[in-house]
Amino acid sequence: MKNKTTRKVFLLLVLFLLTLSLRADPPAVALVIRRVTVIDATGAQPKPDMTVVIADGRISSIGADGSVSLPKGARVIDAQGKFLIPGLWDMHAHLAKTGENTLPLFIANGVTSVRDMGGDYELLLRWRKEIAEGKRLGPRIKTSGPILESASNVERMKREGTVEPVDRFRLGVPNAESAESAVARVSAMGADFIKVRTVASLETYRAIAAAAQKHNLALVGHAAASPEEIIKAGQRSVEHSFIPPLSSRSPDQRADLFRKMASAKIAVTPTLVVGEALLTPYDKAAAIAEDRQGRLDIRRKYLSGYLIEDWREQVLEKKEARMDLTKLFSERARDLREMHHAGITLLPGTDAGVLLIFPGFSLHDELRLLVEQAGLTPMEAIVSATRRPAEFLGIEQSLGTIERGKIADLVLLDANPLDDIRATERIAGVAVAGRFFSKADLQQMLARVEAEASGKKRSE
Ligand SMILES: [Zn+2]
Repeated sequence: MKNKTTRKVFLLLVLFLLTLSLRADPPAVALVIRRVTVIDATGAQPKPDMTVVIADGRISSIGADGSVSLPKGARVIDAQGKFLIPGLWDMHAHLAKTGENTLPLFIANGVTSVRDMGGDYELLLRWRKEIAEGKRLGPRIKTSGPILESASNVERMKREGTVEPVDRFRLGVPNAESAESAVARVSAMGADFIKVRTVASLETYRAIAAAAQKHNLALVGHAAASPEEIIKAGQRSVEHSFIPPLSSRSPDQRADLFRKMASAKIAVTPTLVVGEALLTPYDKAAAIAEDRQGRLDIRRKYLSGYLIEDWREQVLEKKEARMDLTKLFSERARDLREMHHAGITLLPGTDAGVLLIFPGFSLHDELRLLVEQAGLTPMEAIVSATRRPAEFLGIEQSLGTIERGKIADLVLLDANPLDDIRATERIAGVAVAGRFFSKADLQQMLARVEAEASGKKRSE
């Protein structure tokens, strides 16, 4: 009898082990990154010669090399001479525009999370879920779903005709009375926050803000009202900063306003890289848009489909634009430096979807521009792309820094980004919730996207 039971237990055990070995996902192996310089984004100085242990997708221990015990069977990466930063955020992107095929481009660029600022909510919420469940490779997504607009603006876009399926991207709010139902609709979709772009009136703006508060959703978006109204409304972030810039106010008036914005914890996402794109002459922009092989800009070869159709439309709009933006952008940069000085959080966003913005890649340009134009130090730029977004979204308990217990979203760099912020482009590896992609893995990832874009390979 005893023997029979033992045999039964043994058989069950064999069956159990067989099931384990047949599972699609191999059992998680711990990952160890040794002898690396950790830039943890907590505000601490870089720590050289550290060992970071990752188990079950999280950072399980960090310590001086040699002082940390290494789990048996762990995959060990010798990262001597390399630098480890938290996974980067793009805080302003339009993924429904950049398209499904561009999602791996973010990962290949170390952009492990994206704040999506509006688009086709069905697509966005599906991708958000599939990525969270590990069924799709792409950045973590927080999204507004559709963008709230003044109804007349939506009507105009539809009348003029556009590549974008307007009704899937935008929700028109005709007046203050309809604000509550519009916000309720977006809330019911499962959006993470409410994005406003244009409003029919100040009353409508206030009503949208009140409805967002009632539904416990943060209000973010363009400066659709005066800075004072934005503060009153409790809007959490201002996209693209203030356009026109605040040049009619005296330096003292601006300083006073920026102090108030800082204490109200209003962040600003300048999307400086869009400024660069807008300053690109028409001929050059048109040539890059049609340059499928990426001869003019190597990043172009990864793009295809709807994004390029939308780019073509934007190229035509550019041809008609006759406005000197140089002065506008230099005054905006002045505002941003003053904001930064006043303690306002500046967040890196690319507005991916816009002409000449390259999904994933352009985030590195934005970091450089935050240093060059807004006066951030390289360390501040790294914190603005890691810890600040997590804090902004209220998820700093699990993301944003390299600390024990945090989700292991990490970027391994070949050079020191504190010496030159452009080193964030020199990626040696990326960990997404502890899943490590080596440089070779990332190159393969890019090659797949390129093949798909050139039509040589269908999407998997
Ligand atoms: Zn945008």
